[in-house]
Amino acid sequence: MQFLYDTHAHLDDEMFDPDREAVIEKIKASGVGLVNNIGSCMESSRASIKLSDKYDFIRATVGVHPSETKNLTMSDIDELREMAKHPKVVAIGEIGLDYHYDDTDPETQKKWFEIQLDLAKELDMPVVIHDRESKGECLAILKQKGIQKGVVHCFSGSSETAKEILDMGLNISFTGVLTFKNAKRAIEALKVIPLDRLFVETDCPYMAPEPHRGTRNDSSLVCHIAKKVAEIKSIPYDEVVRITTENAVRFFNAL
Ligand SMILES: [Zn+2]
Repeated sequence: MQFLYDTHAHLDDEMFDPDREAVIEKIKASGVGLVNNIGSCMESSRASIKLSDKYDFIRATVGVHPSETKNLTMSDIDELREMAKHPKVVAIGEIGLDYHYDDTDPETQKKWFEIQLDLAKELDMPVVIHDRESKGECLAILKQKGIQKGVVHCFSGSSETAKEILDMGLNISFTGVLTFKNAKRAIEALKVIPLDRLFVETDCPYMAPEPHRGTRNDSSLVCHIAKKVAEIKSIPYDEVVRITTENAVRFFNAL
């Protein structure tokens, strides 16, 4: 498959309100053949499905980000369950733990992470995992729940953590972080990750890769991450595109 798959984007973000349609047309024209629009709260999960209905190359995920779990209810989980049955929904996520901001207490985050993992298991769907500064707690919960069909997104951890994730049977996804000047640790981690366990993503509108760092990111820039992977692993760019896309298509059952 000779097209790029941006496995993690937020094209419903308000930063795209002024020109969303034009941006999506630009992405399509840039050689990106598939995009996962990621749900991060109830509203964005609904918006992701709407985008996937409108554009044939967009897939959706539904789930609630740890920082958005404060006011979550079981009826929201029921709605997620119904949304997940939509034919273009490919995963539950992004879900996980985020201890960087202390606006949502860890117990609340863990409770809703576990409930959403149970939902993914019930529906036999893959999970998109957000793990920020959880100091191993996120991986411990995934182990305890026996989750094997998952991807840890926006990875910036050590090669030891990468090995632990791979041993659990999970995949790893890189954003533009890999292209940043201070990416030494992520680059070392990439070296231990086989190409067939790796996805590329933009996490747009955030995380714009070099040479666009600091500007609004969009899925057309995912090529910069694939180029960096090719450079670090000394593999032809076309090979990186083919293998990462084939893996992600299989993992998300996206075609
Ligand atoms: Zn995200």
